[in-house]
Amino acid sequence: MAEHIGIDVGGTFIKAGLVAGDGSIIDSVKLPTDVQGGVEAVEARILEAVEGLESGTLESAALSLSKGPSRTGTIGIGLPGIVDPREGVVRLSPNIPCWNDYPARERLGRLLGTVVRVENDANCAALAEAWLGAGRDLESFLLVTLGTGVGGGVFLSGRLWRGDGGRGGEVGHVVVDPDGLPCGCGARGCLETVSSSTAILREARRAGLKGNVEDLAGRARDGGHDESILFERAGRALGIALAAWLNIIDVHAIIVAGGMQPVLDLLEGPARAEIASRAYGLDVGAVRLLGATFGEDAGIVGAVRLAAGFPSP
Ligand SMILES: [Zn+2]
Repeated sequence: MAEHIGIDVGGTFIKAGLVAGDGSIIDSVKLPTDVQGGVEAVEARILEAVEGLESGTLESAALSLSKGPSRTGTIGIGLPGIVDPREGVVRLSPNIPCWNDYPARERLGRLLGTVVRVENDANCAALAEAWLGAGRDLESFLLVTLGTGVGGGVFLSGRLWRGDGGRGGEVGHVVVDPDGLPCGCGARGCLETVSSSTAILREARRAGLKGNVEDLAGRARDGGHDESILFERAGRALGIALAAWLNIIDVHAIIVAGGMQPVLDLLEGPARAEIASRAYGLDVGAVRLLGATFGEDAGIVGAVRLAAGFPSP
């Protein structure tokens, strides 16, 4: 597999990377997304990131031999929100609202002057993990991105499972508390409203606790009672949502990615207890909760895997 450009468009930053066939990142660029500027502003930033990458690439003697807009061939792009895989259209994007019903494949393809493939960002992370990460030896797994929001990707029998409309793997919107807080999706009590870092920080402030998630986790590990309750609650909700998933897809590996990955140790116990009591006929001992291999770079690496045509679009 030749080198490709992968782009990870988030609500805050756009990251673009030139990635070699072995998955190593040759060069990368990170720019603010400029969501407030609207559709054209976000597009301009994406173009800027790719141009920055390509001008950097030209300085490399080995790569300057190839030229033209298709120098790096197809470009893969991971986007936040529901991406229709057949049409290449972003149907709904809470973090980039100007992109609701945005024909990403067509517009970004024209903008960048090459063929682009688009995919949900958590699905890209799942592709990266399946290719070279924690899922590389697994036929099937569920990936959960726990961060400011909660997303997910389902890898089943060697393929990304997108669903009929591209909504496959929206783990964050499994309801864990029917009367819970409103979620950005319009429902109430979704996993995202309880187990995201945003939710943990909200509950921490409500309890009068200071610091970021890392600080809170440190105090929980030192035996802090109030801090421990925060992670216990988040871990239980995670377990309830995972049990629902496991009752349907029965995978034995769950890969946890995102900003909350470093606190997985605090979530795992309560999550396992809920899985054990809720997943019908499942030996919870057979279920592995694995940390993701790729941190911030998962989106770029997965987008490159997508660009290379795997799994076939
Ligand atoms: Zn929701």
